[in-house]
Amino acid sequence: MDKRVIQLLGGAMVEVNFEEPETECRKCKKKIRFATTIKNQKYIPIIKEGEAWQAHFADCQYAKEFRKPKTYAERKKEKIAKIHAKFNSLSDEEKRKFNFYQKI
Ligand SMILES: [Zn+2]
Repeated sequence: MDKRVIQLLGGAMVEVNFEEPETECRKCKKKIRFATTIKNQKYIPIIKEGEAWQAHFADCQYAKEFRKPKTYAERKKEKIAKIHAKFNSLSDEEKRKFNFYQKI
């Protein structure tokens, strides 16, 4: 097993299994690896930066899309926006029968 604890450029300590093959970021397609943070056992993508490694959240151009999980309030807001969008796309006749409490 080639498991090593390394320090990322941001300072965080992570454990990496270098026997696992490199993979690619689903979003930007750069070559990355996955590591587990020592602090709270989070599984995060990391990327090689010169001789060092850094969390891929720091350089991925799509990093914002990774931010998860959403809070309850955010999910609720999205759900309401979806229902409103659906309602607005309906005819007047359909609007009269629209059930705002449906599950979507
Ligand atoms: Zn990426």
